[in-house]
Amino acid sequence: MTRSRRTKIVCTLGPASRARETIAAIIDAGMDVARLNTSHGTPEEHLALASLVREVAKEHQRHIGVLMDLGGPKLRTGDVADEAGQIALIGGQRIALEPERVESTAGRIGVDYPRLCEDVGAGERVLVDDGAIALVVESVEADALICRVTHGGTLTANRGVSLPDSKLTLPALTDRDRHYIALGVESGIDFFALSFVGSAADVSEAKSIVGFLGAETPVIAKIERRQAIEHLDEIAMVSDGLMVARGDLGVELPPESVPVQQRRIIAAAAERLIPVITATQMLESMTNSPRPTRAESSDVAHAVWDLSDAVMLSGETAAGRYPVESVAMMDRIVRAAEEAEPVVEPARLRPSTDNHAYVVALAARQIVESDLNMRGVVCFTRSGYTALLLSKVHPDAEIYGLSPTEGVCRQLALARGVTPILVPFVEHSEEMLQIVDSTLSADGMFERGDEAVVVASLPVRAAGRTNFLKLHRVGETAGHA
Ligand code: PGA
Ligand code: MN
Repeated sequence: MTRSRRTKIVCTLGPASRARETIAAIIDAGMDVARLNTSHGTPEEHLALASLVREVAKEHQRHIGVLMDLGGPKLRTGDVADEAGQIALIGGQRIALEPERVESTAGRIGVDYPRLCEDVGAGERVLVDDGAIALVVESVEADALICRVTHGGTLTANRGVSLPDSKLTLPALTDRDRHYIALGVESGIDFFALSFVGSAADVSEAKSIVGFLGAETPVIAKIERRQAIEHLDEIAMVSDGLMVARGDLGVELPPESVPVQQRRIIAAAAERLIPVITATQMLESMTNSPRPTRAESSDVAHAVWDLSDAVMLSGETAAGRYPVESVAMMDRIVRAAEEAEPVVEPARLRPSTDNHAYVVALAARQIVESDLNMRGVVCFTRSGYTALLLSKVHPDAEIYGLSPTEGVCRQLALARGVTPILVPFVEHSEEMLQIVDSTLSADGMFERGDEAVVVASLPVRAAGRTNFLKLHRVGETAGHA
């Protein structure tokens, strides 16, 4: 029996991938979760795309999650006054930074941050347009920062601004983000991701808005600011997942820090038993070329070996020339890496918790790995929790996540090693074993005589957590023997 791919693939959809046939091809090539980047496009476009993904996924009988990425409080420059639409900034020159989005001229740049002169001090850096232009603050005046250009370049309209040395008081969510949360909840989006998180409170605020709207949609914190790196553990504690958002992280931190922080972020997610996505520039060169660089394929493989739950494609699938090829390539690299993966040391993964559910999951791993006749771990999960837990102990075996809720199946599309399967709601352990015998053998996942470790939380209707483990020989329940 060939193993399924364990590490999941998140694809950002956009102009290059929003046609029905392209979505179908991308699903066939291996997409597990579709990401809608609300920093671009209109609400109508995103909602249409979300329902198209749902439709095509249904035709393909796949549980594909839809992740809505919220732009968060990204600072930007204003328009450019000059007719050519650009201003040349020369290294060494002085320029004023004003705390509102006024038109930029040769003498000033407008930034949409009202507290600019309060929160930014002399000696601190200002990075514009993904760091392409760098300034340093020389002095702070009442209504402007006087800066010197340390790295010149051409300024165009609406460029991103990052202030890596400053402690900012940014709102967690913009009005636009709140609007998107309401639309996302209404249309049954499976995950939200929040950009430019600075603290645990930012994530809690997003979660409380989701809760206020009557939903429990998971919120994934994008770790892309220095401030988030400093508060990583608190953020991981309240988040439902993390993203190593290397694009913006690489603007605020020097390049050599990004891989170091990537490991830290993955470890923080392991500790809190939540999924983690490694993102951005993974196959960047495939935006324009049918083949990735060797460094890129190596990067994807290492993200797999570091135990990312998912790897992500951004511009490659959203706006590139080879969207389908990029997914197929990602799939091949991941599979090859997983085939060669060394056995993970359980000790390294053990989070500091006295969680009994976790101990049950560890036991399931030990049992399934102890015997070649063991075909996998089957878990019955109402909320998805048990399946996420099993995913985080990384058994060297298939994990089947059986849930009566389609939304939970779609959320499990992000969990490493988990194959989500929709099943009828059952309450008793005998019924569970019958489902294992009927559903899983009918789908060819098990043959009669194979053994499975069945994990669940009983009684099913109680709010209990993962307390049941049974060794089961497939085909041996009453009525199927
Ligand atoms: P973005 O986030 O693609 O929304 O900017 C990811 C990143 O910064 O890496
Ligand atoms: Mn970003």
